[in-house]
Amino acid sequence: MPIPLHLTLLFLSNITALLGGFLLGMTIHETIRSSLPEFLQEKIVAFIIFGMLPAALGLYLMGFIFRYLIAGRCPKCGGRSIYHASRRENAIFGGTSMVPITYHCKECEHVHRTRIFPANPMDS
Ligand SMILES: [Zn+2]
Repeated sequence: MPIPLHLTLLFLSNITALLGGFLLGMTIHETIRSSLPEFLQEKIVAFIIFGMLPAALGLYLMGFIFRYLIAGRCPKCGGRSIYHASRRENAIFGGTSMVPITYHCKECEHVHRTRIFPANPMDS
């Protein structure tokens, strides 16, 4: 699929995974609450285990799907272009610089740089 579409879907899927994972986890917690040990009924513990954890897992899963299963289309040759999250890289004159989200073509090795810099917590 075209790179802008790939990026849009990735973005929407991440939000869906984050919210969906969180809500699903919280719903499960409500349902099985009475059969849980005492410490798992604490609000903050429940929030982390049943809220943050499924949300993070959902995000991780989406990252995996959009990196390995769904590829973008290379603007140069139309081949499979693989998503790479934004990251820090050593700059030529020392220090580090941010690299935006890039797509690396598997056929012609063309690297497409986007102008988007959301640091991915899973990649740090
Ligand atoms: Zn290409």
